[in-house]
This record gives sequence, C-alpha cells and structure tokens, in this order.
Amino acid sequence: MAAIHLKQVRKTYGNGPKAVDVIHGIDAEIADGEFIVMVGPSGCGKSTLLRMVAGLEDISSGQIVIGERVVNDLEPKERDIAMVFQNYALYPHMTVYQNMAYGLKIQGLSKSEIDERVQRAAAILELGALLERTPRQLSGGQRQRVAMGRAIVRKPAVFLFDEPLSNLDAKLRVQMRLEIQKLHASLRTTSLYVTHDQVEAMTLGQRMIVMNRGVAEQIGTPAEVYARP
Ligand code: ADP
Ligand code: ADP
Repeated sequence: MAAIHLKQVRKTYGNGPKAVDVIHGIDAEIADGEFIVMVGPSGCGKSTLLRMVAGLEDISSGQIVIGERVVNDLEPKERDIAMVFQNYALYPHMTVYQNMAYGLKIQGLSKSEIDERVQRAAAILELGALLERTPRQLSGGQRQRVAMGRAIVRKPAVFLFDEPLSNLDAKLRVQMRLEIQKLHASLRTTSLYVTHDQVEAMTLGQRMIVMNRGVAEQIGTPAEVYARP
C-alpha cells in the first residue's frame, strides 16, 4: 500500500502552436489505503490524469509520488500499480487462469506462488469453476471479474480503475460495485476510481476529486461534494 501525491501535475498534448493544455496543475494527496473517486464531465482530463499515474502517458510537468518514490520516469510495471479498464482488456486466446497468471509469470514468481495467488483471487471473485474458459465463453460480468482478478493477484500498492463497470447492465453494476466495496474493505489498497455514476461515487468514495476543464475543482467527501448548492 502507498500514498499518492500529485504535485502541480500538468499535461500538454502536442507542441508549438498546436499545444493543448489538458491538465492545469493538479495538487492532491491521497492517503495510504484511501479510496478516491474522480468525477467530472467528459473531456475534463480524468483518463489523462489516471494514465499519467499509471505511467501510460508522460507528465508534462510536476511530480507524481507513489509511496516514497517519484514515479515520473518509471515504467508502468515499476510503479507497483494495477489498472482495471472498462473494456476488460483480457487476452482472448488465454484461459481465465492464464489471464490472471500472466503478469505474475512475467514478474518471475514461482509456479506455486502463482497458483496460490490465482486460486485465492478466483475464490474471492467466485471464478473457481471458470478457470479453463476463455474470455469468449464468459459473460460481461464474469469478464470484469477476471479483469479484477488479474489486478488483485499482483498485490499492487495502488489500484487504478477507469470506469470499470460502465459496460455492465444495471444489475451487474450493483453486484460488482458491492464486490469492489468488499474487496477494498479487506485489502485496503489505495484506489483511484474514475466514474460517471453518482451512486458509485457516493458508495465507494471515501473522498472525491471533482474535475472540471483540467483542474481539481473540489476535493472532499461525497457528503461535502453533493451538499454543494
Ligand atoms: P475524460 O477522461 O475526462 O473524458 P480525457 O482525459 O480523455 O478526458 O481528455 C481530456 C482532454 O484531452 C480532451 O479534450 C481530449 O480531447 C484531450 N486528449 C486526450 N487524449 C489526447 C491525445 N492523445 N492528444 C490530444 N488530445 C488529447
Ligand atoms: P504454459 O504457459 O507454461 O504452457 P500455463 O500458463 O497454461 O502453462 O500454466 C502455468 C501453470 O499453471 C502450469 O503449471 C499449469 O499446470 C498451471 N495451471 C494452468 N491452469 C490451471 C488451473 N486451472 N488450475 C491449476 N493450475 C493450473
């Protein structure tokens, strides 16, 4: 687990006359173990900020600190984070087991350690009976569980979620939201979660970052944010 500090983080896409400032100097401190929900209108920079924390996008200026380390120049795999996307991004030709094991194999963990972590994640997420299936043979909710499983087996210091439930139907969204809540209650992994859904924001967020046009307009608890006239 680790705290995240964003210090005057800026992002400009392109350069010269075509330069577009997208993130205008965001400062935020996310405590170790905290669950932060980020909301804001489409195009305000939520994904860009998340991708900068993940290391999928260069930081134009400022600093991102995860734990004790300035991660600006670190590769995604060196940052000790795991990311869950809305489109799952599973490997279609691998089984559920292989999808969850893959990242651990790359890390060079032993077979027995990999097996222990995969089986444990499968038990938590009720995927035990589906380990030999490929993603094509799964429902949307099951795929999203595998995506979650692939993140939790890594035991990362930080989880990043980019609208992970937005492709699910209403019933599954509720179910997965409760699962994410349970997961955080037991793992206490520092989490940054982007959503458009107010119910998700209110139930999952210990605090919220309200983004607008590339600035953090408000940072506070859901009660504080939604009490605003
Ligand atoms: P959000 O996730 O809040 O919808 P994004 O972070 O995706 O917003 O986008 C923020 C702004 O940055 C938008 O105006 C978008 O058009 C712009 N943008 C995103 N990616 C790029 C890119 N690769 N090149 C140029 N502009 C981009
Ligand atoms: P490889 O890529 O080396 O051919 P796999 O990725 O299929 O092998 O599997 C890696 C290890 O995990 C192997 O030891 C395999 O026996 C084991 N394994 C694969 N699927 C399962 C499963 N459903 N339950 C338990 N162990 C499994």
